[in-house]
Amino acid sequence: MGPLRNAYLDALGIDRWVRRDAPVEIASIPQSVTASQVTPPVTRSAPPAVARFEPMAPTADWNTLRERIAACTACDLCKTRTQTVFGVGNTNAEWLIIGEAPGAEEDRQGEPFVGRAGQLLNAMLLAVGLPREQVFIANVLKCRPPGNRDPRPEEVSRCLPFLSNQIALLKPKIILVVGRIAAQTLLATDAPLARLRSKVHAFGEPATPLVITYHPAYLLRTPADKRKAWEDLKLARTTYLRVAAGNA
Ligand code: SF4
Repeated sequence: MGPLRNAYLDALGIDRWVRRDAPVEIASIPQSVTASQVTPPVTRSAPPAVARFEPMAPTADWNTLRERIAACTACDLCKTRTQTVFGVGNTNAEWLIIGEAPGAEEDRQGEPFVGRAGQLLNAMLLAVGLPREQVFIANVLKCRPPGNRDPRPEEVSRCLPFLSNQIALLKPKIILVVGRIAAQTLLATDAPLARLRSKVHAFGEPATPLVITYHPAYLLRTPADKRKAWEDLKLARTTYLRVAAGNA
């Protein structure tokens, strides 16, 4: 493990000790790694317990979609938002990061994952070799729920077509979902986060690999779980390498 990655793990607040029998670290996996060396278990998501989120063909290009979201009044969140939060990043990215909804700072700045949670997300991504500029980051909801309350089902169902359109345009090789609400929404399940982590789900018709981890805001409150988040990130990284190598 190189000094740079060590610095990122330090930023994450993760101890860098490694047991002799510990699994191989991401940094030591060669790009030519074979599927049999790194293939994690692929698990279909649980049967839907809530309205199913069906990925769809894109109905708008990026610019049109941005305009539609900025003008959207499909749910009551339009009355309390400062601005919509479209998403940010590289529209050719192979990684899509999906969170729940904008918070107060995101609502002010118009960008997802800013502030302390955003800094931690950046550190998490860098720990697996991904500068923020290389990924695309979006939320399930494009407007902030007042007081950071959980999104309501009708808000989610009205807003999901926008995320679906973003996924269809981006065609990511892997989706990393952060937090329980976004995970349950994308997998259409009410299973707890603990049952959804540590496995690779298949999302949508192209069966895009989808890995779930904790929301950085939760990790700021519960740093003891950063070690588990690191395991999730390694799972996502090995899965991505497998897909990129054509061994999906
Ligand atoms: S949350 Fe989504 S559906 Fe509701 S007003 Fe904002 S953009 Fe429209």
